[in-house]
Amino acid sequence: MSDIKALGYLGFGVSDLPGWRGYATDFLGLQPVDRPDGSIDLRMDDHAARIRLVADAADDILWLGWEVADAAALDRLRARLAAAGVSYEDGSPADVKDRQVEALIRFADCDGTPCEAYWGLLRRTEAPFLSPIGARFVTGRQGLGHVILITPDRVRTEAWYRDVLGFRVSDYVHAEMAPGMTVDFTFMRCNSRHHSLALCSVPMPKRLQHFMIEVDNIDDVGRSIYRAEDAGVHTMLSFGRHSNDNMLSVYYITPSGFAVEYGWGGLEVEDESWHVQNHAAPSAWGHRFRPPPGTPAPVPTIMHEREDA
Ligand code: FE
Repeated sequence: MSDIKALGYLGFGVSDLPGWRGYATDFLGLQPVDRPDGSIDLRMDDHAARIRLVADAADDILWLGWEVADAAALDRLRARLAAAGVSYEDGSPADVKDRQVEALIRFADCDGTPCEAYWGLLRRTEAPFLSPIGARFVTGRQGLGHVILITPDRVRTEAWYRDVLGFRVSDYVHAEMAPGMTVDFTFMRCNSRHHSLALCSVPMPKRLQHFMIEVDNIDDVGRSIYRAEDAGVHTMLSFGRHSNDNMLSVYYITPSGFAVEYGWGGLEVEDESWHVQNHAAPSAWGHRFRPPPGTPAPVPTIMHEREDA
């Protein structure tokens, strides 16, 4: 089994930091903490930070932070990485301070995506999380949500996360987007959240296709639809329900061009009773694709049902 307990934090490199600050706070409902170096931490719960926004032209994910339970678990992970021939670096005292954890290591997955594993993320119960719009997020043992990564070789990357980090496959989606053109997705978990990580191979210049954050009631998903309309935020996939994790969600384009899935009602999975499924479509209904204005075809997206299909 995995010593990875959760997707604990993320770092995004964003070219429009002021735009992102407003988007993350007024639209998504995350709490900003401005840092002396100009970066911004976003809170979703009592933890000091769940997402770090850094001014960077990448407009992509800069690091994934995977949580382990304690020092012993981090030692086991070091041994596991070494046995798999994956080199890692211990975080310096400055790194540990920067990430607000007790200890961390850095390594890269088989695609070169920067990963960190840590224990002891700072909690700020003396300064409770306060969403600017009153949203509450489902985190805790399920971690902050999930990410979908674009990989040149989904099967190889799936094997890497399974064999090296100990993730388990929850299911697959093999979606025929056009006659003879199937896009395959692997959904993987490291806790009871149906997936903390999903993988797909599509021609896209970014590592991150989307990240998902989950609110604790459906009304807050509904409200987001109308906030988007009022604020002119582009809805990439309309309201719908996913076929595999049952999430009721909407996908919005972020100022960095990747998407955020804003959802409620995600499935929790128990290892003892779960068996791997496969699906022919990503959604039971909805999630209709809306090309971002001015985007040249083919649009880099997860490609759900097309309006013009
Ligand atoms: Fe998702």
